[in-house]
Parts: sequence; structure tokens; C-alpha cells
Amino acid sequence: STQAGLPDIDASKLTITRTQTPKALKKPEDLIFGRNFTGIPAFPTTKSMNKTYDHMLSIEWTARSGWAAPRIIPYQNLSLDPATCVFHYGFECFEGMKAYRSNVNGKPSIRIFRPHNNMRRLNKSSVRIALPAFSVEEMTKCLATFVNLEQRFIPDKRGYSLYLRPTMIGTQSTLGVGSPGSALLFVIASPVGPYYPTGFKAVSLEATSRYIRAWPGGVGDMKLGGNYAPCIVPQLDAASRGFHQNLWLFGEEGYVTEVGTMNLFTAWITPEGRKEIVTAPLDGTILEGITRDCILALAREHLTKEGWEVSERKFTIGEMAKAADEGRLVEAFGSGTAAVVSPIRRIAWDGGIGGTPRDIMIPLQEGKEAGALAERLWKWMEERQYGDVESEWRLVS
Ligand code: PMP
Repeated sequence: STQAGLPDIDASKLTITRTQTPKALKKPEDLIFGRNFTGIPAFPTTKSMNKTYDHMLSIEWTARSGWAAPRIIPYQNLSLDPATCVFHYGFECFEGMKAYRSNVNGKPSIRIFRPHNNMRRLNKSSVRIALPAFSVEEMTKCLATFVNLEQRFIPDKRGYSLYLRPTMIGTQSTLGVGSPGSALLFVIASPVGPYYPTGFKAVSLEATSRYIRAWPGGVGDMKLGGNYAPCIVPQLDAASRGFHQNLWLFGEEGYVTEVGTMNLFTAWITPEGRKEIVTAPLDGTILEGITRDCILALAREHLTKEGWEVSERKFTIGEMAKAADEGRLVEAFGSGTAAVVSPIRRIAWDGGIGGTPRDIMIPLQEGKEAGALAERLWKWMEERQYGDVESEWRLVS
């Protein structure tokens, strides 16, 4: 939590100032996640999102007085001195999460998916860049009130949700490089449509070793704005060769880490003949994806009884290529808030040191754009997001 003696975020002090100019609702059909499906946006951007929000949640902090009373106010521009530290040294971190409208047996509810996890991750990111910590419990309560107020923007249609973007910035006006004396935590929201409105579209990745996203001792496991801007040029680079996203490798060994804005899962038969679903470990170089955590739990619950081992361990792109050559590669897919599960059809790889460039082809089901595991895991996720299957993974707001 925050510094001893100073006020933390206190949801009971939340005030609401309603907008005088509520926005018109868009038709759900106009809320397509990615405009066209030749390229998939890395994550919801303002381009692919719909500026139909009414309000924002805003909470100010100062080193002297701690957290001020949380406020929900009409959605508005920020006004900041050009010397504000966020513009110069990148004091910014954020989260991406969703709230779903559920209607099970005629019982409507709004469900925020695993908000405590996102708030914990935001806290971790914030503290790493000398911004303040806050009470996860109290912040989650404020978030729930905000989502309730904006709930008319969540279309009552399967596949749709309200994307939430909590953001923390350093607001002290100073060119001195040091810990910010003031900060702003705000949350905006935007309705989003389904990522794959006409069914899965398997993506192609370019395994990238020329650029390195993260490294041991770095901040690859934090959701800092500064981790994202440097990834756009590599992404455009890959896109110019027809790939949807980068697959980030690490080290001479070619360790598989994660995809653009998704964690990566591989299902294969090991050289010893065991069925394994594997994803990179949380060693500080990948984001601790909340979808990743769900997929691991669902796989452990449902797939171990079908003989699958579920592992978090290091593995290499060379091992994936070898598995493909030997017919042992079963599936590969990405996991993240935006697409939930994103099947992969092809990974282009330069072959590593002294190797030959090649394509790793990943099996899909006959006539489909997804493997069977990806399809089932996605369905189990959706059932829990929309409340068809009750789980601990939601806050009913
Ligand atoms: N890795 C990166 C780099 C990301 O930006 C994201 C999206 N937050 C993910 C993985 C997936 O995380 P989550 O499942 O929490 O959305």
C-alpha cells in the first residue's frame, strides 16, 4: 500500500459528477474490434476503439498528501504543463481489461473479469517506475462503480464487452530526473466488438531476433508505456513482410518468450512421447498475462485428465521447428485480453545462428482456422467471462 500515515485510495469518498452531454450509443455492428482482418491491431487502439465514453475515473496523488478522494467526472482532456515528467521520462503504466454483460437465466449482471489481478499488476508496474502504490481492494471498488455508471455502453450481445484502460502517469512539472512528487490514476472505457466476428482467423508470426523486447533484470514483465512504443517499428517491419505480429525470441538459444501483446502457448508431443502444453515461465522477461493464468488453470483442470502435461518452462524456437519436422507439433496459440485466444498458423524463423530461414507450419483442424485445443480453451474462457459457467474470475458489479 501507500506510504505510512498518508491516505490511500478510499472508495467511500468517491464522488460522481455526471456529464451534461451523454453520448449517443453506436450500433453493436459498428463496434468491430479490428477494422479489417488483413492486419490485427496489437491491442485496442483509439483507431479501432469507439469514442463513445461519457465519464472517466480520476484519482490524484501527491507525495505530500497521499491519495485524494476518487472522482468520476465527465470524460475530458487533461491539461498538463509541457514540463510534466510523463512527457520527458516516460512515467506511465497502464492496464487492459474487460467488463462483460451477462444474462444467465434472465438474470442480467455486469461482470468485470479478474479486476483484482489487473489492479495488482498496475500496482507492480507503478511502483517499478517510482509512481505510487494503492489499495487494490479500494481501487477495484472505484472501478466497479465506474463500470456500473458506464454500463449502458456494454452491448447486450455475445462477443461484445467494455474495454477498460486504467492508466497511471507522473504529473509533476519538472525536468529533474527523479521520483515524481505527484501522479494521476485515471480510467477510461470503450465498448469493443468481437475480435473474430466471423470465427477464428489464424495468424502468422515472424520470429524476431534482430530486435529484443525484454531482457533479464529489465522491465518486460511490467505494463509500462515505454515497453510498447519501441515495438511498433519491429511490428511494422514484420507487417511489411505480411506477418500479423512479432514472436519475441531471447538469447542465442532462441528462447520463445511472447507475441506482440499476447503470451504464447505451444502444444506438442515431446521427443520422449509425452503430450505437453507449454508456455514461457514468469522469469521477468514476459508479461504475467491474466489470460495466460486462466489458460493454465483451465488446461490443468480439463486437459491433464486427457493426458496433457501443462508446463511453464523455457523452450526454444529450434525445438518448435524440430517438432514440426517430426510431426510432433500439435498447436500454437496466443493468449491475451483483446482476442482471448488467437490461433497461429505459421511462424517464420531465420533459422538462428548459422541456420537457414524457414517456415514453421502449425496444424489447424481440417477446414478450420483453429486447433481443437485453442477452440476449446477459448470456449471455456467465454463461458466464464459471460457467466454461463460460474467462476471466481469475476466481480459482479
Ligand atoms: N504480453 C504483452 C506484452 C501484453 O501487452 C499483453 C496484453 N496485456 C499480454 C501479454 C497478455 O496479457 P493479458 O492476458 O493480461 O491481457
